[in-house]
Amino acid sequence: MTPTPSIDEPIDQVRTDILARIDRAATRAGVPTPQLTAVSKMQPDDRVAAALAAGQTVFGENRVQEAQTRWGKTFAPARDGLELHLIGPLQTNKAKDAVTLFDVIQTLDREKLARALLKAADTVGHMPRLMVQVNIGEEDQKAGVMPDDLDSFLDRLRSEYGIEPDGLMCIPPLGAPVAPHFWRLEQMARRHGLAQLSMGMSADYETAIPFGATHVRVGSALFGARKTG
Ligand SMILES: *Cc1c(COP(=O)(O)O)cnc(C)c1O
Repeated sequence: MTPTPSIDEPIDQVRTDILARIDRAATRAGVPTPQLTAVSKMQPDDRVAAALAAGQTVFGENRVQEAQTRWGKTFAPARDGLELHLIGPLQTNKAKDAVTLFDVIQTLDREKLARALLKAADTVGHMPRLMVQVNIGEEDQKAGVMPDDLDSFLDRLRSEYGIEPDGLMCIPPLGAPVAPHFWRLEQMARRHGLAQLSMGMSADYETAIPFGATHVRVGSALFGARKTG
């Protein structure tokens, strides 16, 4: 097993530094300061506890079951003051659990899921806020609506399902310049009058901000390397 590198600085200091970087990037670009979504997936409880103690209230998770354990059990007493975002792919058979737990689901990307979410919302009694994931790099292995299909998908959401998403989310391809992808997602959101843009991760959140990111999703830069296996 490779040793897990850890951040030596306490999380509250790292978080303060990240918030300052976010602020600087936004000020420089003359855009509103985006929200820091702390991606707590596969992080040990003590780091999550430290982030909570530091005042972090917005968290992102990519698996429903792991999130249920963390926020429905381990940190259940803190849950009320928090905003939880699902940022990973959602299977229709987990729709009800996701609707129950999350405040925002960022990964709506197909009609079948829209139907499952509506049914779940009916049962649970409320619908989380929704964002549409776009497969911005048109990668086979990635989830998300293909850019060419976005117009018709959004039309269908509105006309067939009465769903009005808040915005768009993307994960650009690894190892290629990210700015063109952020630019393209911004154009898509503008064209459709969508206010929110979830883009930018540990390696590139400062790049996403001038393109109008409203949510940056930062995991390892905040918490340190994730547990594996
Ligand atoms: C894991 C994950 C992140 C955070 O990644 P880092 O590089 O650790 O910041 C952001 N977005 C999504 C969708 C993820 O799955």
